[in-house]
Amino acid sequence: MADTSLMDKLVSLCKRRGFVFQSSEIYGGLGSVWDYGPLGVELKKNVKDRWWHAMVHARDDIEGLDAAILMHPKVWEASGHVAGFTDPLVDCRQCKNRFRADDPRIKGTPGQPDAQCPVCGTRGSLTEPRLFNLMFKTFMGPVEDSAAVVYLRPETAQGIYVNYLNVLQSSRQRLPFGIAQIGKAFRNEITPGNFIFRTREFEQMEMQFFVQPGTDSEWFERWREWRMAWHHSMGLHPSKLQWHQHTGSELAHYARAAFDIQYQFPFGWQEIEGIHNRGDYDLSRHQQYSGKKLEYFDQAQNQRYIPYVVETSAGADRVALTLLVDAYREEEVEAETRVVLGLHPTIAPIKAGVFPLVKKDGMPELATTLYHDLRKHFTCFYDDSGAIGRRYRRMDEAGTPFGITVDGETIAAQTVTVRQRDSMQQERLALSRVSEYLRDKLRAVA
Ligand code: ATP
Repeated sequence: MADTSLMDKLVSLCKRRGFVFQSSEIYGGLGSVWDYGPLGVELKKNVKDRWWHAMVHARDDIEGLDAAILMHPKVWEASGHVAGFTDPLVDCRQCKNRFRADDPRIKGTPGQPDAQCPVCGTRGSLTEPRLFNLMFKTFMGPVEDSAAVVYLRPETAQGIYVNYLNVLQSSRQRLPFGIAQIGKAFRNEITPGNFIFRTREFEQMEMQFFVQPGTDSEWFERWREWRMAWHHSMGLHPSKLQWHQHTGSELAHYARAAFDIQYQFPFGWQEIEGIHNRGDYDLSRHQQYSGKKLEYFDQAQNQRYIPYVVETSAGADRVALTLLVDAYREEEVEAETRVVLGLHPTIAPIKAGVFPLVKKDGMPELATTLYHDLRKHFTCFYDDSGAIGRRYRRMDEAGTPFGITVDGETIAAQTVTVRQRDSMQQERLALSRVSEYLRDKLRAVA
């Protein structure tokens, strides 16, 4: 299977099955903004729930937070985003398209007569590179002047820094401790693309872990290990995950160390999560810009200091895309192509399909009752239309791990057939045990 065709097939499956739609499609779409349909919203919610569980509920040293998207404009001065969150860009004076200066499609040197626009082909039409800020700007209140400028946050982390003392004091935590947050972030990306990989509106799952200076390297290594283990636990093929260390100019000015977890996408190895040792950069800057002390008093050491921060920063959309790419497969079954999303059962949007074998002999009634019972605990889908094989295939494409069929024996023997998505094996199970069976299966892989 050619790599690009895998992405095309995935985009088309996502639309057909209701995972992801283009934003404002009836108006021709909005560039690199996507909407999640009924299956997509469940998938992404499962990703976020598993992250929240691992980071907040399963630990006693991390607290949750949901800070607002809009923040005081000084936050972005302190963080360095107003001055430094920029990409060098060039414009084509002829066709008005805008490109990153390092766009590999540009032939020649932008600003020089030999440079050629990759879209309209005009020579000498590209401007010198200019810095372009990636933050979306808007205005607060009725007057559009510079005093009213606010930004849509380009990352969730700053909401954590400015609330660090509030959370510390109200939760009565002590260092080392962390704050986790899931929320929307916005970047006016110039070269967005690859479906939901790089979008202008996306969701981040970020955690900032505050530690005593000097213990940061140790915590950094621990967090690297835990985060990689989390991606493995989502069912991703380990051979498709690797580390990428930031070195030299790649390393952000505030970072003492940075590693990306990369996945081998059809379009190359790309970052899905960054783990950064940010030292005391962020809290020191906020202390300086706000004039408020952000020190921590370490009782055990009888010492005041600004904590160092180890950050883990993942994109919920990017993780969702990774899971979809990793799960997609095509198999030849009985001279037909079976498309399967082999999603980890805890991530699958629908846990079980419920089917009456035929629409008579009391089967629909029994299947409907079973479906309503199961729905109290699991996301299920009822389907009575078409041949049973087709119904199984539809669920395979949606990534549903179990198919439960009410057939002729159900009424007589009070049993149903349970079909496994991956092996297509079927087994008979007492009707009264279906709920327990699903619960056990989902728990076993959690
Ligand atoms: P990239 O170089 O790929 O743009 P980045 O280094 O700018 O990523 P970070 O600022 O470290 O990314 O953001 C942390 C995480 O947020 C990334 O690992 C990614 O999963 C997610 N993310 C960042 N930008 C986007 C985007 N435009 N669309 C979707 N997810 C994003």
